[in-house]
Amino acid sequence: MRAIRRFTVRTVLPEALAPLGELSMNLRWSWHPETQDLFRDADPATWEAVGHDPVALLGALAPERLAELAGDEGFVRRVHEAAADLREYLTGSRWYQSLGGDGQGSVPAAIAYFSPEYGITSVLPQYSGGLGILAGDHLKSASDLGVPIVGVGLLYRSGYFRQSLSGDGWQQEHYPVLDPDGMPISVLREPDGSPLVVTLDLPGGRALHARVWVAQVGRVPLLLLDSDIETNEPAERQVTERLYGGGNETRLLQELLLGMGGVRALRAYSRITGAPAPDVFHTNEGHAGFLGIERIRELVADAGLSFDEALEAVRAGTVFTTHTPVPAGIDRFPRDLVAQHFSGPLAPPEALDRILALGAETYEGGDPGVFNMAVMGLRLGQRANGVSLLHGEVSRGMFSGLWPGFDPSEVPITSVTNGVHAPTWVAREALDAAEQAGGARDWEGLSRLSDSDLWGVRRTLREKLVTDARRRLRASWLERGASEPELGWIDSALDPDVLTIGFARRVPSYKRLTLMLRDPARLKSLLLHPERPIQIIVAGKAHPADEGGKRLIQELVRFTDDPEVRHRIVFLPNYDIAMAQTLLPGTDVWLNNPLRPLEASGTSGMKAALNGGLNLSILDGWWDEWFDGENGWAIPTADGVNDPNRRDDLEAAGLYDLIETQVASRFYDRGHDGVPQRWIQMVRHTLQSLGPKVLASRQVQDYVNQLYLPAATSVHGLGEDLKGAKVLAEWKRSVRGSWDGVRVDHVESEGVGDAPEVGAVLHIRAFVSIGALQPGDVEVQLVHGRVDEGDELTDTATLTLDHAEAYEGGRHRYDGELTLERTGAFGYTVRVLPSTKLAAAPAELGLVANAVVSEGLAKGAPPLR
Ligand SMILES: *Cc1c(COP(=O)(O)O)cnc(C)c1O
Repeated sequence: MRAIRRFTVRTVLPEALAPLGELSMNLRWSWHPETQDLFRDADPATWEAVGHDPVALLGALAPERLAELAGDEGFVRRVHEAAADLREYLTGSRWYQSLGGDGQGSVPAAIAYFSPEYGITSVLPQYSGGLGILAGDHLKSASDLGVPIVGVGLLYRSGYFRQSLSGDGWQQEHYPVLDPDGMPISVLREPDGSPLVVTLDLPGGRALHARVWVAQVGRVPLLLLDSDIETNEPAERQVTERLYGGGNETRLLQELLLGMGGVRALRAYSRITGAPAPDVFHTNEGHAGFLGIERIRELVADAGLSFDEALEAVRAGTVFTTHTPVPAGIDRFPRDLVAQHFSGPLAPPEALDRILALGAETYEGGDPGVFNMAVMGLRLGQRANGVSLLHGEVSRGMFSGLWPGFDPSEVPITSVTNGVHAPTWVAREALDAAEQAGGARDWEGLSRLSDSDLWGVRRTLREKLVTDARRRLRASWLERGASEPELGWIDSALDPDVLTIGFARRVPSYKRLTLMLRDPARLKSLLLHPERPIQIIVAGKAHPADEGGKRLIQELVRFTDDPEVRHRIVFLPNYDIAMAQTLLPGTDVWLNNPLRPLEASGTSGMKAALNGGLNLSILDGWWDEWFDGENGWAIPTADGVNDPNRRDDLEAAGLYDLIETQVASRFYDRGHDGVPQRWIQMVRHTLQSLGPKVLASRQVQDYVNQLYLPAATSVHGLGEDLKGAKVLAEWKRSVRGSWDGVRVDHVESEGVGDAPEVGAVLHIRAFVSIGALQPGDVEVQLVHGRVDEGDELTDTATLTLDHAEAYEGGRHRYDGELTLERTGAFGYTVRVLPSTKLAAAPAELGLVANAVVSEGLAKGAPPLR
């Protein structure tokens, strides 16, 4: 990449074109076609040459061209209109402002969002895959909705990596050094003009310094910490070199910088710009979890709180999102390594053991030598969520060991299903067509097109993809050592009228890149079918250390090299946002075949859906939730089959069958006008049924309503000087200390005999010992419901204390009644839980005293007739 200094750009811009500077530096251009058009029209050839990068374009324009543009009245007018439009976008009232937030009450004045990667545009390559794209879409939608988020991340000098292929199909990694001065980011400076430096003091007198860059994502500032500065020793300069690069020590330093350095960067940002301090902190996956330690350190140092009090204050305002049930996706550090880094000035005084306890795997099967970032995330956040309904459920099961005594369904992890940022992911051509037909510029307008117009749009998008894929294929073959004369076949590789299946994503083993190769002969016959052929476009990067993933890529590439099929199946190297923006809209069918339930959500298929693509997927992640039988196809899963080979065989066979008997036959079933009516019906249904659900704007609103507002309410509930945190810490200490004395002694029931009928009323009296605690400290619950296979009772009712004084032996009596409303096997039990209005979920403390099952009590009560 060329070294382009931003201030140079500014000084050479003629006065009349000055607003182009701001327009290039605010990443809103990346989802605003009109602004892109403006840059394109400044010099179409240069715009192509610089890869649609406004900062690079301005740096590359000759002074004569700039002078010419400055004299072009029409162009200057457009520049000023675009600038006015951006200003209006940045300052107008939006959805969030209608919530009535004035920094008071429970509407957060600011929300800090931490993520190790951000996928915003291909000109800022700071992402590896779905986690980063999600973070980017979150910031963009927050900006559109006026949600006052501040993003925090790291600036990686080499990003993730650029992928190419060797002659024999082996992944090659390239690490181009990015020049921050040529990117749409600017250094955060102190009022005196010097760059802000954030410093973490490490043990042994070492220090890790970082500069902070600000990327402006519409209304949302994104702070990126960069350790590649001269004040650092050479080793520390390397810390932010590569995303997910380096060994354990580098990764730990990255995460310390992201979490702890990130909080310090935020504080400095507020001090310098006057931006309000965040009252809610959201950590996107466990990597940034140390932000909680830094906030505890602040509160201990500045507000005089104890570690436990500070922990309560931090928990109240922290939201943790877990993103994967795959163990390799969860950061686990050697405990000793973490201990070593916190044995110095980073930790609050005498807090080392407390910090280590936060990441300890204290459940059955846990490794005592490990510090687990996800576990710490759950302990530091009062609220947590997975990223689809199914993933929420899987996560509750996976982490239930942290809440012993509770059913998995009560584990306090909820879910918010991912979404995608429509303005980024819906193709321009589709939006234009919708608008020309008089509809809205979105999926809805698209769904209202006539059959033939909609089919026409789909053809246009497919053709654009084919053109782009040929270009990439040629470049890849040249890089693999082929020469131009050998590549004539590429001109007719792929066909804009053949059913096109897309498959692109990272290549961890659970995503099963090569499932489609399970029966190569069968795949070949589908590709080469004389009347109903299919073509497949594949892309994806394997993590540089993942030899297994690279072998899968090689296996696939070798298959695509076969002259017999190479015009119908291609592997395109270096999957990134730019490729995705053509690939996803252009595919007729988006294929996803993960090993269920390991795909937490997945979002690619949502992007396809918004463009009228259909999904063909295993019922995992978001597809498990929203597949309705008519918006695509579900590949049958062999869930109970334990032999992985057999499972792959079965699921691959299901996939081939579906493609042959459902997908291809429908695609090629044309009416007299050449339009596949039943296909278009599914496209229209997909747009209408999935359109409103898969939006990141829906996702961000869900986060605000279900997590950010309640978190802010908890924070404000702590009151002045965080008194509530002190009260809560003290209360928890006393409840934990006395819990041994809490038990259900005895339960009496009447009103239902051996054969109760619907309508019978069950009267319960429970005698409970609460030891040194007060009745107000506990809630006594009747837990009841159908006795299902898992023996999980799903309903609870609170029993009421009959009077304040204890009975003989210090027991209290709690009463309640319940009308039996349903037939079938019914069960109940009684339990005691700690109770405080400062908790967000009943299981929060992980304490419960369950009634010991005894005769006539609880599970196994007689069935209702
Ligand atoms: C959407 C997107 C992803 C996410 O992939 P999933 O497999 O759906 O999680 C990854 N990479 C890029 C470039 C994307 O655009």
